[in-house]
Amino acid sequence: MLGAGPAGLMAALKAREIGHEVTVIEASNRVGGMAASFDVAGQRVDLGSHRLHPATDPSIMSLIRSLLGNDLQTRERNGRIRLQNKWIGFPLRTGDMVKNLPLRFSAAIAFDTLFKPLRSNGAQDFDAEIRRRLGPTVAREFYGPYATKLYGVAPNSLTTELSDRRVSAGGPAQIIKSALRAARPEGRIFYYPRRGYGQISESLADAATNQGVKIQLNTPVDRVTVSEDSVEIAAGDTLLNASNVLSSIPLPSLAQALSPSPPDEVVSAIDQQRTRGMLIAHLVVPQGQYTSFDAHYFPGLDLATARLSEAKNYRNGDDPPDLTVLCAELPCWVDDELWGADTETIGHMVEEDLTRAGLPKANHTHIEVRRLPSVYPVYEHSTSAARTVIDNWVRHPGRVLSLGRQGLGVPDNLHHVLSMGSQAASAITSIGSIDAQAWGRSLTEFSTHVVQD
Ligand SMILES: Cc1cc2nc3c(=O)[nH]c(=O)nc-3n(C[C@H](O)[C@H](O)[C@H](O)COP(=O)(O)OP(=O)(O)OC[C@H]3O[C@@H](n4cnc5c(N)ncnc54)[C@H](O)[C@@H]3O)c2cc1C
Repeated sequence: MLGAGPAGLMAALKAREIGHEVTVIEASNRVGGMAASFDVAGQRVDLGSHRLHPATDPSIMSLIRSLLGNDLQTRERNGRIRLQNKWIGFPLRTGDMVKNLPLRFSAAIAFDTLFKPLRSNGAQDFDAEIRRRLGPTVAREFYGPYATKLYGVAPNSLTTELSDRRVSAGGPAQIIKSALRAARPEGRIFYYPRRGYGQISESLADAATNQGVKIQLNTPVDRVTVSEDSVEIAAGDTLLNASNVLSSIPLPSLAQALSPSPPDEVVSAIDQQRTRGMLIAHLVVPQGQYTSFDAHYFPGLDLATARLSEAKNYRNGDDPPDLTVLCAELPCWVDDELWGADTETIGHMVEEDLTRAGLPKANHTHIEVRRLPSVYPVYEHSTSAARTVIDNWVRHPGRVLSLGRQGLGVPDNLHHVLSMGSQAASAITSIGSIDAQAWGRSLTEFSTHVVQD
């Protein structure tokens, strides 16, 4: 198994349960990938706001519950979104929307809702699809700028595949239904482990290790050489032989490591598919709590920060009483100016964003910045054909099967990639080959995943 993020750990655990010998090769010094937790100033933090959503498949939920026991807490979401310079509870709640949304804005949404039946089907891009489903006001004020901020391109250059995967609301009626549900505390719950989101991956890793899986950290994969009846994996001083490799590392890294290389057409398609990076800035604030909210969402393009979360407010944990750590998520392109900015500049930028948003000054005493190079796959019209080539290629795994968020270039949640891990392990047959047909069926199912925010 390549990669010890949640997808890789789940695949390793399940493959071991079926009876296979499994070694996991991981580049970093910890498990969990983008869903890991670690310490900043003695407090456990995540790489951006992470929640386990109630949409999680019951079988996966029951596995997580069995691994975490009472450490898995049921929490009530308590976020806010900044729309038209006002704070609205997020997830949206009916009472709060009526009270806090500017009247002109609410009236425009009501007008758009009335005219929804007149908007024709067959939208060709993300922007048009959001306009069709939710009306021009929501598209212009919320989804349009937010998409530009997250993906770095205009929303009309993104495909409807992205709106299908990222936006669950089919229309204003559905938004109102969700807002009515969220108006009740039980309608806005999520699950979160006492010791940070990474505890899910850590407990999966422990379960896998207890069953005999070997996990090798600090070992980036260099080469994956495929021959007729086996695969050789070279990673630093490590040389392993296996009948199959499941890989959850980024697809470009896998393609580069593979020998023989994938066909030229596939290499070129993988090169074309862009992903958006993100700076994750953790600011240590010398006070017990910054605000009582767990997350603030900033869809507007006037701020570089897209979301600010306060780890402490996600759980009842053993957090230090005299400080709190904020996490700012700043989307960017790898190698753009923001990506290369120094830590102090990023600290100033986040503080300025907070002031502009009308939030208290953080007066941070320490900041740590981490750079995630591929967070959001950008589904542009210009690379649609490339994605079709990639999709066909991953459907024919041979001895090397690619899965997970970065392995398939999808924007999926943790609960989705856990399901991928489980199904990838099931695709290995008793004679040690990969059942391409079964995996193809799984891939078709994964394409219906809708991301929860
Ligand atoms: C800001 C942010 C917020 C999110 N919020 C949520 C949320 O609220 N709820 C939710 O369910 N999901 C959320 N997610 C998604 C969640 O983090 C991912 O779905 C999950 O981490 C994907 O797991 P994975 O195993 O597929 O990939 P990854 O987590 O990317 O793991 C891949 C692993 O491969 C390793 N690797 C890479 N290259 C190599 C190499 N050459 N050799 C060996 N190992 C290598 C990496 O170090 C990593 O450990 C969020 C993600 C982000 C970035």
